[in-house]
Amino acid sequence: MTSIIIRILLLAFILWLVRRLLGKILAPAKQPGATDDRADIQNSMVKDPVCGMYMDSRLAIRLDSRKEAYYFCSEECKNKYLGNAGRGTGAGSHPPV
Ligand SMILES: [Zn+2]
Repeated sequence: MTSIIIRILLLAFILWLVRRLLGKILAPAKQPGATDDRADIQNSMVKDPVCGMYMDSRLAIRLDSRKEAYYFCSEECKNKYLGNAGRGTGAGSHPPV
């Protein structure tokens, strides 16, 4: 009669071993590849200093200054930025229509 109990225990042990082995095999499948892709997208994202919009640097209008490059969502924002820079503080300036 004890042989049945030993068999059951042995079967349970084998099942536990198989689960452990499967867990070890399946664990490396979770690769951090998705997070790397997200980082690439964030790196290519640039901020419009005028309206504060984020966009892809490849789609943005680029303006190179002496120190760094600025990106704008549209010609309107670029002109606004250039207008404010030319007028100094830009306080009380008329918005371009
Ligand atoms: Zn803009």
